[in-house]
Amino acid sequence: MSARVAIIGAGIAGVSLARLLLTRLPHLDVTLFEKSRGVGGRMATRYTDGCEFDHGAQFFTVRTTAFESFLEPYQACFQTWEPGVTTLSPVGKPYGRIWFEPHYVGVPRMNSLCRGIMSAPDPLNVRTQQQVQGLSGCPGEWFLEIEGESVGPFNWVVSTAPAPQTAALLGMDLSRVVYAPAFALMVPMDQAQLPLSGAAVIKDSLLEWVAAGSTRPGRGSQASLVAHASGRFSQAHLDAPADQVRDEMIRELEHLGLNGCSRDAAVLHRWRYARVLEPLDEPCLIDSEQRIAGAGDWCIGARVEDAFSSALQLSQQLIPRLNC
Ligand SMILES: Cc1cc2nc3c(=O)[nH]c(=O)nc-3n(C[C@H](O)[C@H](O)[C@H](O)COP(=O)(O)OP(=O)(O)OC[C@H]3O[C@@H](n4cnc5c(N)ncnc54)[C@H](O)[C@@H]3O)c2cc1C
Repeated sequence: MSARVAIIGAGIAGVSLARLLLTRLPHLDVTLFEKSRGVGGRMATRYTDGCEFDHGAQFFTVRTTAFESFLEPYQACFQTWEPGVTTLSPVGKPYGRIWFEPHYVGVPRMNSLCRGIMSAPDPLNVRTQQQVQGLSGCPGEWFLEIEGESVGPFNWVVSTAPAPQTAALLGMDLSRVVYAPAFALMVPMDQAQLPLSGAAVIKDSLLEWVAAGSTRPGRGSQASLVAHASGRFSQAHLDAPADQVRDEMIRELEHLGLNGCSRDAAVLHRWRYARVLEPLDEPCLIDSEQRIAGAGDWCIGARVEDAFSSALQLSQQLIPRLNC
């Protein structure tokens, strides 16, 4: 009988891990459990009032040959994004920035890459809207606790949820992993009034990034802005009322000369675990006795490719253990 593996989380780490395992061990029984309605995790797109916003990861880069070759079959799911990038500051003059490597975005949406990995060459078994609350059972015969039901048994359980959630689920101490939260403000705009034609890195400000959505390849012509607050501001306002945070972010956009954002139309999203500040500094986690494992950006860094690299290294350690 083939081994049964449960993977918690269907962001880039979870779907890549499932695909890598099944490529080498096609008879493995792999199920992904994802608490959201769709896959992608922080490679996210949100719809409000007919407008689409990539409110999480803004782009990804490809620096390793392993990621490059993994992405080869999924070329249709992403494209190079070449916005004009400016540096803005409330206290200094704007100046242009040069990107020295290609920056990619999922097409037509940021989560399209994860959807592509999930679908081809054959569909992965993904169960969405399934929030795993805990584990029961014993090593090799684990059950996932989901809405009062025990789902299983599984020979192995892997969590790709952010480190604090993985720590709670798997009973591991991951307290040395540190995250910064981030507020994302999504603003539908009038094309004629769009104050930014590309993207801007913001300095000396409570904001750190603004991008115009319609400059991204494969998006419609609907004008929109996404602004990200800095980690410091987001941490300090983590539990502040959403209206207050939204108003402060809009005031700061105006301060930077980015006018025309309607307060009523703007929507705020809080990413509690947005960017990894201090990773675990281990490629992945694996406990062969307990038959539990963990992977994700938090093992290595703060980027989409780090999440993939962690999944890749976990797959290389898991395959011999699953194949015996
Ligand atoms: C605002 C923001 C901007 C960013 N910008 C960039 C950028 O420009 N470039 C870049 O490379 N990276 C960027 N990142 C980081 C990048 O998004 C992440 O590094 C990467 O997406 C992490 O992938 P992952 O699979 O490890 O985790 P995630 O994408 O977080 O996936 C984990 C999944 O686990 C699910 N989950 C959690 N708990 C449970 C549970 N109990 N049961 C079931 N499912 C669960 C979650 O819903 C999620 O789908 C940004 C992130 C944010 C938030």
